[in-house]
Formats: sequence, C-alpha cells, structure tokens
Amino acid sequence: MITCDVAIVGAGPYGLSAAAHLKAANGLDIRVFGEPMSFWERHMPKFMLLRSPLAGSHLSDPDQDLTLQGYQASTGNAITSPLPLCRFIDYGRWFQSQAVPDSDPRKIERVEKNGMGFRLTAEDGEVWKARRVIIAAGIEPFAWRPEEFKHVPHELASHSCDHHDLSSFFEKKVVVIGGGQSALESAALLHEAGADVEVLVRAPFVRWLWRQKWFHTFKPVARMLYAPADVGQAGLSHLVARPNLFRRLPRSIQNKWGKRAIRPAGAAWLNARCQPIRITTSRFVTSAAPQGARLALTLNDGAARHVDHVLMATGYRVNISQYPFLPSSLLKTISMVDGYPTLNNRFESSVDGLHFLGAPAAWSFGPLMRFVAGADFASRNLTRGILGRVKSIKSHK
Ligand SMILES: Cc1cc2nc3c(=O)[nH]c(=O)nc-3n(C[C@H](O)[C@H](O)[C@H](O)COP(=O)(O)OP(=O)(O)OC[C@H]3O[C@@H](n4cnc5c(N)ncnc54)[C@H](O)[C@@H]3O)c2cc1C
Repeated sequence: MITCDVAIVGAGPYGLSAAAHLKAANGLDIRVFGEPMSFWERHMPKFMLLRSPLAGSHLSDPDQDLTLQGYQASTGNAITSPLPLCRFIDYGRWFQSQAVPDSDPRKIERVEKNGMGFRLTAEDGEVWKARRVIIAAGIEPFAWRPEEFKHVPHELASHSCDHHDLSSFFEKKVVVIGGGQSALESAALLHEAGADVEVLVRAPFVRWLWRQKWFHTFKPVARMLYAPADVGQAGLSHLVARPNLFRRLPRSIQNKWGKRAIRPAGAAWLNARCQPIRITTSRFVTSAAPQGARLALTLNDGAARHVDHVLMATGYRVNISQYPFLPSSLLKTISMVDGYPTLNNRFESSVDGLHFLGAPAAWSFGPLMRFVAGADFASRNLTRGILGRVKSIKSHK
C-alpha cells in the first residue's frame, strides 16, 4: 500500500488550485488523481464560451503567478473575453503542468475509511493510504434529467453534459429544454451546426443579463455593485464573493439569496445568436414517447411536437451519494442536508479528514462554490485549516 498525507480526488479547477496551495505550504506529500480538466473537455460543448468574466476565471495559486495573464505571458496564447472553452482547458492544463506536474491521471474507484485515515483504490486496483482526502470531483454525476425522460432511450433524449460535439445533430429537429446559459448556448451552437432547434422554457420569459452601461462600464459604480467574480445581481454579488459573511446569514436568507444568485439567465452576448431560434416560454413536456426513430412530445398546453432528439439542459442537483466512489458505509457517517455535506471552516465534513470542494460546498459556503472563482477562497481556507491541524497535532505530541 502506497501512502501520502493528502489525496485529492479530481483535477478540475478546485482540485488543482487546492493542490497548488497545499504543495506550496510545507512538506506535506500531496497526490492529485484524475485527468486534468476532463469535465470541461468531455462534457461541455466544443465551441462554448465561458459565461464568467476573465476576473472570475482564474485558478488559484498562493503567489497568483498562474493567472490567465500569467498563462498568456508564458505561452503567447491570447486571452479574450468571453473566453473560449478550448483556451480555458489549455490554461487549466498549463496550470497543472506548473503547479502539480506529478498529478496522477487515474480515476479513483473507491474511498473508504481506514482507521485514522482513508484507503483509496485506483482504477487499476492500486491501493493508496491517505491521512486526508479532498473530494473535488465536480458535478457530472449530479446531471438532472426530468422524470418524463427517465425511460426514453439515450439516442432520443440526452443531457447537455452527454455531449462535447454537437455537429452530429446536423439537419436534425431538436428540442432543447431549459432557460439558462447552457440551454441557450447549446441551442445557438446546434443552430449554427445546421440543426432545426426549438427551446422550451418553463418560465414565462427568458432572463438576459443585459449590462447597464452605467453599472458595468463606469468603473467606480461597477466596483461598488459587482465583485470581480460577477456572481449574482448588483449588491448581492459582493455578499456572494465573501463566503464567510454569506454563511453567517440566517439559513432562510442564504437559501433565498443563494437561489437568486444563480437563477437561469443567458449572457447578453448570446442574445443575437439566439434571434433566429424559436424560443417557446411557459411550456414544459408532460410526456415523451418514442415513435420509431423519433420522439413524440406532449406539452403542458396539450400541443404536440415530433422531434429527432431532446437535449435536456436541465442543470445539476448536488447529491454526494451519487459519487460512485463513496460507499454507503462511508456515506452514512457524513452529515448531509439535501445531498450536500455540512462542512466546517476547513471544508471538512463530519468525517474527520474528509473534505469537499466545489459545488458540494455550496450549502456551507454559498453559490460562489459553484464557480471557478470560488477556488481561491476554498483553497486558502482549506490549506490554512489543514496546516493549523497539522501544527496543533505536532505540538501535542
Ligand atoms: C456547460 C457549463 C458551463 C459552465 N461555465 C462556467 C463558467 O463559465 N464559469 C464558471 O466559473 N463555471 C462554469 N461552470 C461550472 C463549472 O462546472 C465549475 O465552475 C467547475 O467545473 C468547478 O470545478 P471543479 O474542480 O469543482 O469540478 P470539475 O471541473 O468538474 O472537475 C472535477 C474533476 O474530477 C474528476 N473526477 C470525478 N470523479 C473522479 C474520480 N473518481 N477519480 C478521479 N477524478 C475524478 C472529473 O473527471 C473532473 O475532471 C459551467 C458548467 C457547465 C456544465
């Protein structure tokens, strides 16, 4: 059995940032498992542009050398806004090569409690022992598919995360379900790839994130209203950017404002690309039945649609029991609320030494944890917490 002090499961923005901070902090032996940036490469549409602004799209390292600007200066690859997906993936991999060159691309198949620490089994059967485990495994298992499509074959109805290349829908009739950025951008990309697209939106209207000229371009006003990460509306954005403040609000307010900060909306720059697309509001599918190679849909107003495919851009619902590598014996010892682990200020769950980063930390630290921009706060607090524990254990010996 090979041992390390800290094992990190997942090499996305959160896992890589946490590793950069922990590695720089002292002589802890850190191992990062997983293929760097693989969720972004395999589960997002190829020509997507990031919705988050450049200031909210940096991974985090302690000296802030490995920013997007650092990447541009080092590689000569231009950083443009909005940032194309392929450039962001390349940035993430460059970050990994600088901060965690020894990361291990293998998947972890199982994480179990093992005395004072944990036992991790890699996909090839190799076993590792770690004092601490940081789960930074992202949202892929949480993709939410509406009930009406549970029994529809995958060839006829799929989740937006099932695709990277939408060109296979050339000349197909596709209904996209959802009214958020992912639905609207997928619809635009499908249309541009030659598909005949309709978007069905449950809400009575599509919310576009129009930039008020004064609010966003007059710098002093913009700074007063919006934090650099730009998550949430004017004013709320600053609260979201301070997770230690956000988490002290009464739970009912955290829930209400947390939902508000991430409500479905499309970036303003996407609006013109959606103009040629039929967007039908106040509609949702009540039944879906395969008919040969096509799908017959009935909508809530009784109308029918016959399509080649339904693309569900219906988001993600965090539930850590969906992580395939967490056995039920471990899960039942983790204190949870609505599928989220409850975390202390070290991002540690009720199981000593087991930490969670990214979207699963959103119940404890607010909506910033769902975005790349939250990686800086999470990595700094996690590292401070872990090093504090290591020091206090050493001083008690
Ligand atoms: C379509 C779409 C667009 C988005 N756009 C933005 C945006 O513009 N800006 C923004 O801030 N956020 C955006 N997000 C949210 C984004 O997913 C998160 O901000 C980001 O991925 C969080 O990073 P992470 O490290 O938590 O997760 P991920 O990036 O998902 O990284 C987790 C990694 O862990 C790996 N992993 C999982 N299980 C294992 C295992 N058992 N062993 C080893 N590795 C494992 C996964 O393969 C993955 O590579 C978007 C999400 C979607 C779906």
